[in-house]
Amino acid sequence: MLLSGHARLAAVLGDPIGHSLSPRLHGYWFERHRIDGTCVPLHVRQAELEPCFRILGRIGFRGWNVTLPHKEHAFALVDRHDEAARRIGAVNTVLVQKDGSLLGRNTDGFGFLAHLRASLPDHDPACGPALVLGAGGAARAVAAALLEAGCPHLRITNRTESRARDLAAWLGHHFAATIEVVPWRDRAAALESVRLCVQTTRLGMRGEPPLELDLALLPEDAAVADIVYVPLETDLLRRARAAGHPVVDGLGMLIWQAVPGFRHWGGCEPAVDERVRACLLEALS
Ligand code: NAP
Repeated sequence: MLLSGHARLAAVLGDPIGHSLSPRLHGYWFERHRIDGTCVPLHVRQAELEPCFRILGRIGFRGWNVTLPHKEHAFALVDRHDEAARRIGAVNTVLVQKDGSLLGRNTDGFGFLAHLRASLPDHDPACGPALVLGAGGAARAVAAALLEAGCPHLRITNRTESRARDLAAWLGHHFAATIEVVPWRDRAAALESVRLCVQTTRLGMRGEPPLELDLALLPEDAAVADIVYVPLETDLLRRARAAGHPVVDGLGMLIWQAVPGFRHWGGCEPAVDERVRACLLEALS
């Protein structure tokens, strides 16, 4: 689509930025909803993040996404935060307000939950224990979202156990649910009685080894989610699907986490459906 001088402008800031699917995703939505606008990929190094935050709103950008490694630094550069960003201490979406101030949001947890609900409408996170594998930035957002959705009992396991303990302690400050740290070597046993298992480590990504996890103790109707989306079907999801478990892939989280940003800079509710997925899958292949 050709841009006019009134085009709605958005950006995604990261270092590196070439791999980001955000320009493609937002560009697809602008095109599909026939909106005069675009999302520009900006390669921004750490030292340039602060000047970038100061200038973009002033020169007409309505907002931007922030990707690795800037999410924590971005937290310090905005004027206000939404609840999720405040809890997590990281910002992935910046919305320029009418008065020029910057609202920082964290939409990763929202994205995970929205995709879970869209994929498995009958699954209620409040229905029983969940196991989260990993304790990085994404695990933090996913765990907080599950607890906020009413998960009564969360087990966390991570290769580096101290990080799992830090995450559990932090979650314990915010939520009343039972939060348990399980040693990494005992992760298969921790599947007993869980309703949902969420894989948030880098294992299973293209170029990384697969996650070793024996699913024998997982209740047969329990769901398995993997937030890795390259490949779309990880070894874990393939084995879970073959064993009859409902499965949730990582691509929908990526799409849904972008929805609040697009609502702001695109000015409408973006479509989330098979056509968007197909557009991103084409880019990934
Ligand atoms: P991160 O903060 O760097 O955390 C990485 C996690 O992976 C840590 O728990 C780390 O454990 C674990 N890990 C790495 N290598 C491992 C190994 N060899 N064995 C066991 N555990 C290992 O990264 P992140 O931002 O949380 O992202 C994690 C994954 O989620 C990435 O694959 C990313 O692409 C994906 N992601 C997807 C979405 C989406 O929208 N679908 C959004 C965000 C992230 P240690 O603490 O022991 O190092």
